[in-house]
Amino acid sequence: MTSLWDHPDFDDHEVVHFVTDAASGLKAIIAIHSTYRGPGDGGVRFWHYPQDDAALTDALRLSRAMSFKSAMADLPVGGGKAVILAPPDRVKTPELLAALGRAIEGLGGAYVAAKDVGITVADLVEVSQHTRHVSGLPAGAGLAGGDPGPPTAYGVYLGVKAAVHRVLGKKSLEGIRIAIQGAGSVGGGLARWAAKEGARLTIADLNVSRAETLASELGAVAVDAADVMTMEADVFSPCALGAILSERSIPLLRAPIVAGGANNQLARPEDGDRLVERGILHAPDYVINAGGIINVVLEHFRQASEDEVRERIEAIPGRLGVIWDESDANGHSPADVADAMAKGLIGRA
Ligand code: NAD
Repeated sequence: MTSLWDHPDFDDHEVVHFVTDAASGLKAIIAIHSTYRGPGDGGVRFWHYPQDDAALTDALRLSRAMSFKSAMADLPVGGGKAVILAPPDRVKTPELLAALGRAIEGLGGAYVAAKDVGITVADLVEVSQHTRHVSGLPAGAGLAGGDPGPPTAYGVYLGVKAAVHRVLGKKSLEGIRIAIQGAGSVGGGLARWAAKEGARLTIADLNVSRAETLASELGAVAVDAADVMTMEADVFSPCALGAILSERSIPLLRAPIVAGGANNQLARPEDGDRLVERGILHAPDYVINAGGIINVVLEHFRQASEDEVRERIEAIPGRLGVIWDESDANGHSPADVADAMAKGLIGRA
């Protein structure tokens, strides 16, 4: 059996907690990658994993990405992630969320929870009955907080525009063909922003009716989830789950830009080079999708205004530009350039 320290995704994570609560059936992993800049902030994911090892991989990779994401967004937090292994009936009970809250409280603030796939803001409120360490709770009008999906989608939209400007020389998304994988909170938000500007959208989701409903609302085309990555388009926007850019899928891409909100898009680090070799401009995921963490961190630690959240999100295109310029200059992939910058910012240069 390989040990945790030999796990391919172990990256000197400061602590990894395995949480069990027999009474509620909770099985969770809370990984804290770095607290160099502050407590490890990051979402709680509720997902049914075929094997436990897949949950550990997710927790390790996602918590590292949170360290990098918050550092690049200039936030005073580190990176953490909680992964709940959904029980066989896949039901998320109040008892299960309460047990998670108690476990988080027991960590004394080293991990601060936020929302991720499979968790709602209402779930977070439930968790917050048992711990103070929850970010992204609903806030009053004009203040930061609440669902991180819309601010994430706004940042992704701005990042897509920056990529389109760089590659195609167009300031507007009018007539730009965007293929969106995932019609959830982030993909749906991106689609709405882009549709307002006259983009031509193709939308796919494993949940077919979700894609069809969004497509009919926006005058877009819904396609099969199996086809969205290989469509001819100006932009392929991954907004579902991670590890979709791989040795197998990259040769099949037919878009000069890959820019979307999904976390951990590259299956392996070398897949960033594969995109460069194909002449495809990639927006590093944790840079383009930082809008959500900006929103929740500013709510939890500062009770900041929505205006400040917006201003900080509007810095994302500039940050992408710096990364792309350096990538052009040194030949390293944008993902490698971003990683090197982020490592410097968390004291691991
Ligand atoms: P969501 O659950 O609202 O939507 C995800 C959608 O993707 C679902 O409708 C699901 O059916 C679909 N999907 C899953 N696998 C698919 C596939 N192979 N092909 C097509 N569709 C598929 O989740 P979300 O909040 O929109 O998050 C999407 C991605 O963005 C995730 O990777 C998440 O980690 C990342 N992200 C989200 C936020 C946020 O604030 N919501 C912030 C940063 C990053």
